[in-house]
Amino acid sequence: MGGPATLRGIAASPGIAVGRVWVLDQRKVKTPRRDLAPEEVPAEVRRLHLALAASDRQLAEVRRKVEQLEGTEHTAIIDMHRMMLKDELLVAEAERLVREERVNAEWAVKRAVRKIKAAFSDVADPYFKERRADVDHVGARVIDNLLGEAPEVQEPPPEGAVVVARDLSPADTALLLHERKVAAFVTDLGTQTSHTAIVARALGVPAVVGVARVTQAAARGDWIVVDGARGLVVVGPTAGERDDYLQARERYLAHEREQLATRDLPATTLDGVTVRLVGNIEFAEEVEGLVAHGGEGVGLYRTEFLFLGRGDLPDEEEHYRNYRRVLEALAPRPVTIRTFDLGADKLPVGVKARAENPALGLRALRYCLRQPELFRPQLRGLLRAGRHGNLKVMFPMVSGVAELRAARRALADAAEELRREGQEVSLPPVGIMVELPSAALIADRLAAECDFLSIGTNDLIQYTLAIDRQDKEVAYLYRPLHLAVLRTLALICDAGKRAGIPVSMCGEMAGEPLYALVLLGLGLSELSMNGPSIPPVKRVLRAARAADGRALLDRLLALTAADDIERTVRDEMARHFPDLVGTEGPVGPAAG
Ligand code: PEP
Ligand code: MG
Repeated sequence: MGGPATLRGIAASPGIAVGRVWVLDQRKVKTPRRDLAPEEVPAEVRRLHLALAASDRQLAEVRRKVEQLEGTEHTAIIDMHRMMLKDELLVAEAERLVREERVNAEWAVKRAVRKIKAAFSDVADPYFKERRADVDHVGARVIDNLLGEAPEVQEPPPEGAVVVARDLSPADTALLLHERKVAAFVTDLGTQTSHTAIVARALGVPAVVGVARVTQAAARGDWIVVDGARGLVVVGPTAGERDDYLQARERYLAHEREQLATRDLPATTLDGVTVRLVGNIEFAEEVEGLVAHGGEGVGLYRTEFLFLGRGDLPDEEEHYRNYRRVLEALAPRPVTIRTFDLGADKLPVGVKARAENPALGLRALRYCLRQPELFRPQLRGLLRAGRHGNLKVMFPMVSGVAELRAARRALADAAEELRREGQEVSLPPVGIMVELPSAALIADRLAAECDFLSIGTNDLIQYTLAIDRQDKEVAYLYRPLHLAVLRTLALICDAGKRAGIPVSMCGEMAGEPLYALVLLGLGLSELSMNGPSIPPVKRVLRAARAADGRALLDRLLALTAADDIERTVRDEMARHFPDLVGTEGPVGPAAG
């Protein structure tokens, strides 16, 4: 390529990375099915064996590369995949299907894979459960080879690589960040509030999303700089630019360390109002980082991430173990665990979004109430884990009282069942996410039937303003300070206050320091955000007065245009916290 190319995208997760590009190949292959004439069978069996052999050669090549890069630490998994290619269950079964049922080899492999996975699913040992995903990978490779589309040798990205992809599902992101320790990622698609961005922020990995065509501009092995705070990507930087960014990285890390110094101080304002700052987590592993940033508990545990990146369902034991681990790690601090919010952009492997408009479809609580076999093990796991800490249960996407009542009934039934089995369980406090306009409008009625409210601004803004939170084209209209949003927030907080129950906020808006004074004015008792957002928000709160927040909120509610509201907030914040507010750029996490 020529000189350096600077590309702009959406600042999805702060931090600076300088590394080598790793482009992720994400083709999805559809397996064709064809019936064979009897005379075609021998050639098809040969084709099957050739594809198996080609797959083995490719894996041997991957192994060699991984070994070169990282030593033998990660080669065991590849060895296992190679063994699977020789396994009777796969080879003999696929061959049998070709001979006896006279189907093409692609289809036969797909069927054999399905059968092996079914056999594994009957074995309770978690090791075998893990193996189901491996069988899928191996099967996909053989099918690719049969289709003549030799899969690009897809070795995992080496540690420290910058992953470049067209788009990443939350599952891809989680796997990459958890298992591969990549340095940063950059995608063509995505927005600030897509779950990919949220996971990156939670794990403190820099990310820039919505960089149209970065996958065309960058090739594997190119140097790349990622500035996650400014939403900038430099492909092919000069040595001088690399040095500059490495120095900027050091400054950023030093600043982070400084922020952590407030870890043990409460978020109490100058006039004595204390707001509890808690964390949003997706995985039990995030608890440590959260506590290091000063998290006083968990305000939102997005349990659906247990599902993602795998093809089977977690069972009751797995739920129980996961929740117990988080509860014990934080006890006596509160942990609010949200039941599955599956659907829309969060779906398990193999489940396709069926609805034309999944954000308005069968997702979250609706989905769980429809699928008791999925909901019941979760509720039972939660109730059992509740003994090990300070548990609160929260239901997502509640649209009316009927759903809240049905969910509470399901929880009470699960408790009753456990008691009949001789287990000691008590019902935890139950709350709801207020993230639909309908729930906001009847927040008073909902508040009368639950123990706390938690405002999910990501969805609430999406549904109030009719802005798809995934759609870059309308991201400029996603304005947390729109008067309609502010009025809605005030309505919910007021309903909570009248009912005498706490109101929390767990959407991304809660973690933006620029909004801290407004949120203080709303009287929220708890703000839940990603760990790294806690220190800057705390800094604002500790230097603020709740009375100033209330006065500011009154002024904002008297304005009309979002531009005026945003400017007023920016001016007020600049007056009180001059080093926090820059002179350019819109107010708001998703305004890019
Ligand atoms: C929200 O909608 O604000 C929220 C916190 O839930 P999620 O981002 O998981 O949809
Ligand atoms: Mg939501």
